[in-house]
Amino acid sequence: MNKKILITGGAGFIGSALIRHIITKTLHNVCNLDKLTYAGNLDSLKQVQNTKRYVFKKIDICDAKKVRKIFNEYKPEIIIHLAAETHVDRSIDGPKEFIKTNIFGTYVLLEEARNYWMGLDKKKKKFFVFHHVSTDEVFGDLKQNNDYFTEKTPYAPSSPYSASKASSDHLVRAWYRTFELPIIITNCSNNYGPFQFPEKFIPLIITNALNGKKLPVYGKGNQIRDWLYVDDHAKALLHVALNGKIGETYNIGGQSEMKNIEVVKIICNILDELKPNKFKNIRKYDQLISYVEDRPGHDKRYAIDISKINKYLKWKPEETFQTGIKKTINWYLNNKKWFDKIKDASYKGERLGRIKL
Ligand code: NAD
Repeated sequence: MNKKILITGGAGFIGSALIRHIITKTLHNVCNLDKLTYAGNLDSLKQVQNTKRYVFKKIDICDAKKVRKIFNEYKPEIIIHLAAETHVDRSIDGPKEFIKTNIFGTYVLLEEARNYWMGLDKKKKKFFVFHHVSTDEVFGDLKQNNDYFTEKTPYAPSSPYSASKASSDHLVRAWYRTFELPIIITNCSNNYGPFQFPEKFIPLIITNALNGKKLPVYGKGNQIRDWLYVDDHAKALLHVALNGKIGETYNIGGQSEMKNIEVVKIICNILDELKPNKFKNIRKYDQLISYVEDRPGHDKRYAIDISKINKYLKWKPEETFQTGIKKTINWYLNNKKWFDKIKDASYKGERLGRIKL
């Protein structure tokens, strides 16, 4: 049956991939509720913006009255909550917005969802789902190379960002235990792919390389991350929202563990092949690599065990890092306008990351 899905943060990187997936590949309906912070970009939704099954509402999730109005008007059957402040560096510069949106905003949504859900008729109440989208960063870092984050790993967040996400996960679980609000949580590893704001690691490396700028690598680049192609995440999110078990948590990962420096070198090699550079003094893109002082509290290794979602929901990523990164680089090569608009700072003049080279 076609559902009415309310998505928060749908103008962001993952939210827009999820909406593009739902509108182009299914018959479900979407209401996108987004404040449009510096990270929100409606250009990422051009492909679906004129579809009748899609509607956009510019709203701050901290504004209870407006959230209530949308719930009552749109009458969602599923909520997928992605709206958040998400950049770790920005959370170190200024944690306030992270506390506000990620913790207080999630509280507002939970309360409004609970009031709305309690007013539903028996059948609608039974099938309602509040799906909270979170990160593997809530688990802190892994010391041993053979360790993996499972759904039972204790929380040990390191940055203001991950601490705010951990808090929001606790609130969501409490609303299930205390009020029986039907929730599901997913904790996902690092995403990459088209339409990612160029302050994040992979698009920063690609776009800097294309502009002949230095490629900043924290410390020696030995931090290990598990990379997931964003469209794989989008498919997982919809699948979990439709088929996951209420009250459960599912870890989502890319099964692509890699050191940051390896990621940078792979990107450079693919760019050398797809778009040999014409810069003076540089033969190969990896000559642009520049090691910078490490970020405080930088986690060393994240790696996700996806056995649970694989076993119970038969999900696994379709892309390998090699196939996903090639698609991503090709997208950035073909969509220079999209990121130039952001990099030119015509986008509200925000600074791109705190790295000083
Ligand atoms: P993003 O920064 O690209 O997008 C966030 C979106 O939320 C933006 O459109 C922004 O305008 C919106 N937003 C921010 N504050 C808001 C508010 N108060 N009210 C309404 N909208 C608001 O983020 P992303 O990378 O797409 O991440 C989406 C979600 O997935 C987040 O909850 C994040 O914690 C989680 N996550 C991200 C990753 C990743 O690698 N990017 C990995 C795991 C989990």
